[in-house]
Amino acid sequence: MEGHLKSIVKAYLDQKGAAAVLVCLAIVALMGMAALAIDVGMLFATRIKLSNAADASVLAGVRELPADPSKAVNVASQYTLLNDLQTGETVFQVSADKRSITGQASRTMDLFFARVLGFDKKQLNVSATARISPMSGAYGVVPFGVADNNYSFGDVQVLKYGASFDKPLPPGQYAPIELGGNGASTYKYNISHGYNGLIKVGDVIPVETGNMVGPTRQGIQDRVNGCRHSPPCTISGYHEGCSRILIVPLGYNSPDPGSNGKFTVTGFAAFLVADAPNNGGQGEVNGTFIKYVAPGVNSGNANDRGVYVAELVE
Ligand SMILES: [Zn+2]
Repeated sequence: MEGHLKSIVKAYLDQKGAAAVLVCLAIVALMGMAALAIDVGMLFATRIKLSNAADASVLAGVRELPADPSKAVNVASQYTLLNDLQTGETVFQVSADKRSITGQASRTMDLFFARVLGFDKKQLNVSATARISPMSGAYGVVPFGVADNNYSFGDVQVLKYGASFDKPLPPGQYAPIELGGNGASTYKYNISHGYNGLIKVGDVIPVETGNMVGPTRQGIQDRVNGCRHSPPCTISGYHEGCSRILIVPLGYNSPDPGSNGKFTVTGFAAFLVADAPNNGGQGEVNGTFIKYVAPGVNSGNANDRGVYVAELVE
């Protein structure tokens, strides 16, 4: 009798022991999974951070292309530091055609909990590429229809003709075009601020007749005075986004005289203006050609005329 009772108690205790062991194992397994989740979450967050930094850096660097590949690499490298990456964690290279920049960002992560499973480090690698393409649609253009030539850096071009100029345009036309309506105040606004809407290759735009010396001078004066850089921007040194940089539609005029004239857009170019017109009240505007990356649209149908849009490549 006594032996029988002992065996029952023993079985009971064994049962409790087994349960305790099971509970212990379950706790260890749960803690292990939670710990791994912390490692995996940390890796995931770091990969997103590297990827965002790489994207931002190549987008910043590509704006220096095609003119200055080494500056493109420097700007991209600076951007990675601003995005909390360390020197040596990124490498950038510019393509042979100077139209794209690729960056690789990598970081070796120490793992904390996955060591139990034999993993103590994990290398993360991401890459990003940004490319420039000829602009086929532009925001913020000024209302001058300029002849479509293959300009070179530093070329000085008449953007808007003056009264005494022997101009290659039909009678009554001086290069102004109607963007968002006619009239001197709309015209002047479009010079000062750039036209709000989108102008695309293939658009046919009515010309604005008359010389409009006053609104032209006031609008260009706003652009010149809007430069707050020191020293002020000129062709020998200028800053991205400066008000002195004008985006103009390139194209050709119909032969129709006066207000029957039409301007057909074939591309876009960027010119720097450093002086308002003061040539005896003639109202002529000159600009110096530059290559430039600006906000706009790339539909793949634009000639390369030196204004580009920047985009990330998958
Ligand atoms: Zn400036």
